[in-house]
Amino acid sequence: MPELPEVEVTARELARRFAGNRVCALRIFHRGFRLPVSAALPAAVLGQPVEAVGRRGKYLLWQFPNGVLLSHLGMSGAWRIHEPGSAPPRRPHDHVEIECGDAMARLNDPRRFGLVLWHPRVEGDVAAHPLLATLGIEPFDPRFDADWLVNHTRNQRSAIKSVLLAGRVVVGVGNIYASETLFEAGIHPATPAGRISRRRYALLADAVRRVLAQAIAAGGSTLRDFSGADGAPGHYTNAARVYGRAGEPCPCCGTPIRRIVQTQRATYFCPTCQKS
Ligand SMILES: [Zn+2]
Repeated sequence: MPELPEVEVTARELARRFAGNRVCALRIFHRGFRLPVSAALPAAVLGQPVEAVGRRGKYLLWQFPNGVLLSHLGMSGAWRIHEPGSAPPRRPHDHVEIECGDAMARLNDPRRFGLVLWHPRVEGDVAAHPLLATLGIEPFDPRFDADWLVNHTRNQRSAIKSVLLAGRVVVGVGNIYASETLFEAGIHPATPAGRISRRRYALLADAVRRVLAQAIAAGGSTLRDFSGADGAPGHYTNAARVYGRAGEPCPCCGTPIRRIVQTQRATYFCPTCQKS
């Protein structure tokens, strides 16, 4: 599943190739995503300049003067960029195509849990869109720190791993990164979120930013079939220190890494280095 680092890498690549160019074609080959693609979308963006391509959580935001095109990669989506003149034939599951000057982007999504939605400017700030309004803070927002974590987990008995994964306190800590950041911070994944001290939350906030920044620099993870918008595979999973390493020695103390299941997702941790 594409995680925040993959989406960030995709946003940067789309921005580099598309920002400043006008849309000369938008083709929809399949409307049946998690929500149907609006039939009004091509007419809304045709001839409009792409002002920027950014990200909020795992939503890609294509900014136009008259609105925002939201796209989500769901379980299996990926944008790939081609030269319009020499683009390869459309593959199965290439459902949407945007062409702008010297670049064309295709959204491939075999499972179609993704989204392509149009938010007209007249409906107000996209941040208030129902899909975005409930998201947690961005991990690179300066307000995300130990105090933020303490204040937003007060009295919560749920395990910190599940709280991170839910994305309502902070976005972007997906399943791989939840295991990795808790390992970096020395926090046992089953610890009730409301019982973690400010000092340990400071370590966790730092770890979240550090691990996500490393993953973005590495081009996202290679789990499943993710590849960046330019088609190059990401490399983060090779750098994972505990994720997917059950039975291997902990890189810090040598204790075998353990795997448990929390809210139906696998968690990896070191039973010696990570304390409740
Ligand atoms: Zn250890």
